[in-house]
Amino acid sequence: MNVLENFNHIQDNIQNACSKSGRNPREINIVAVTKYVSVNRAEEALQAGITHLGENRDTGLLSKWEKLGDVPEWHFIGTLQSKKVKNIIDKVSYIHSLDRLSLAREIHKRADKPVSCFVQINVSGEESKHGVGPQEAEGFIRSLEDYSAIKVIGLMTMAPHTDDKDFLRNCFRTLKGLQEYIHSLGLPHAPCTELSMGMSNDYTIAIEEGATFIRIGSALVGND
Ligand SMILES: *Cc1c(COP(=O)(O)O)cnc(C)c1O
Repeated sequence: MNVLENFNHIQDNIQNACSKSGRNPREINIVAVTKYVSVNRAEEALQAGITHLGENRDTGLLSKWEKLGDVPEWHFIGTLQSKKVKNIIDKVSYIHSLDRLSLAREIHKRADKPVSCFVQINVSGEESKHGVGPQEAEGFIRSLEDYSAIKVIGLMTMAPHTDDKDFLRNCFRTLKGLQEYIHSLGLPHAPCTELSMGMSNDYTIAIEEGATFIRIGSALVGND
């Protein structure tokens, strides 16, 4: 399938999920996750009208950036090692995986302008997943106040791989509750209005539960 066909199909699904939940499709930003595919495929996504691209490794981001430059808005979506921050920091508009102070310190040190960050939350408490536990989130976000380059625009989660829709819905609902709570604290460095949640298998549920950024790889640009 070409990217445009996939994109049209996804937009229909977004429309349906929005109608079901009384939301406006304009609130949903689609990040095309191009980590599995070539730069040509990424370019096809831009031609289809997608403006946000996501990568989870510095090398993948840099090789595509060399060709596409700042035409797309770049999202760093994966585990980010502190020593890699300097390679990507002047190229990305968003980092979705802020989960520790050492990383915040490095971003602050290397960035020349504020970076829109999502704090990654491990909602389901799976051992293998990165992210801050829901109980630690407020303390962690308060401690980011010292790093003026970090702007906490929202929370992000990766739901577990499961077909259990109720379980997924619960994860997303928990994240939404936490996002609203952090937002209500009125912290100047953490407006926390956004929710990055939903991937190829679960984005319609994520939208019904309040996602504002969905990160789609396989279903949009493919995975080979
Ligand atoms: C790979 C990846 C995605 C996209 O996964 P698909 O299931 O292919 O849509 C989204 N978010 C993160 C953090 C990823 O690493």
